[in-house]
Amino acid sequence: MARPLDWQLATVAGVHDETDAVRSFSLTLPAWTGHRPGQHVDLRLTSEDGYSVERSYSIASEPERAPEVDITVERIPDGEVSPFLHDVVVPGDRLEVRGPIGGYFVWEASQPGPLLLVGGGSGVVPLMAMIRHRARAGAMNPTRLLLSSRGPGEIIYREELDRLSATQDGFQVAHTLTREQPPGWSGYARRIDEAMLSEVLDPLGREARVYICGPTALVESAANALVRIGLAPSQIRTERFGPTGT
Ligand SMILES: Cc1cc2nc3c(=O)[nH]c(=O)nc-3n(C[C@H](O)[C@H](O)[C@H](O)COP(=O)(O)OP(=O)(O)OC[C@H]3O[C@@H](n4cnc5c(N)ncnc54)[C@H](O)[C@@H]3O)c2cc1C
Repeated sequence: MARPLDWQLATVAGVHDETDAVRSFSLTLPAWTGHRPGQHVDLRLTSEDGYSVERSYSIASEPERAPEVDITVERIPDGEVSPFLHDVVVPGDRLEVRGPIGGYFVWEASQPGPLLLVGGGSGVVPLMAMIRHRARAGAMNPTRLLLSSRGPGEIIYREELDRLSATQDGFQVAHTLTREQPPGWSGYARRIDEAMLSEVLDPLGREARVYICGPTALVESAANALVRIGLAPSQIRTERFGPTGT
């Protein structure tokens, strides 16, 4: 059995579009040790001349899907790795992957109590692993996802989130659309702020466990707002994607 930091050759079992700029890849791993929701993998691309680049991608799927894991990648137009994954990789291809990595930003259904998940854009990916795992495990703990997206077409996993929200097992999703709202939109229409977090947190109570993931600026402002609301920093776990200042 491979150790998490050994590279292994994953086979791309499937590819599907989540939005115009976001695509999911199902990877089958030959020696997967299993993961905890919130962990990520590292992916390495090596060109013929030996130049190689590595990037981290959160695992989107629940551990119950092992040895298949999904990653969900936003295409950064001037990026090195994400355009390659979007434009070149097709089912049957092999990719070098290692993991699972990370032990801090994880939640498992064995952890009881209310859960607040806050995501910005592709920051929803590790939160989705938690949400899918929660549903598969039959956990009924009150759970809310506050998801910030730019516009209606950019909401990642929208249909699945709506479906899971409709099952009435204690999971609910609240959306905020920061740049473009469709006619009749009844969700939030601004960046995540203290008043919004307070409203979403209210039914869960101040003891909720919180996970925040997204661009650095969103993560920091949401965590600071929750501390101002009265949560202890020890209740809040954060994961930052993308460069500082975004
Ligand atoms: C723990 C962890 C988990 C991650 N999980 C995911 C995931 O599930 N899905 C996902 O899509 N990404 C995820 N990322 C980000 C990912 O690792 C890459 O940084 C991202 O795909 C961009 O790589 P690139 O090679 O395409 O762009 P690069 O060549 O690295 O960057 C090109 C340009 O884009 C800017 N840039 C880089 N990243 C971002 C970004 N996220 N947003 C805006 N601008 C950016 C850079 O500053 C640069 O100007 C994660 C990062 C970390 C640290």
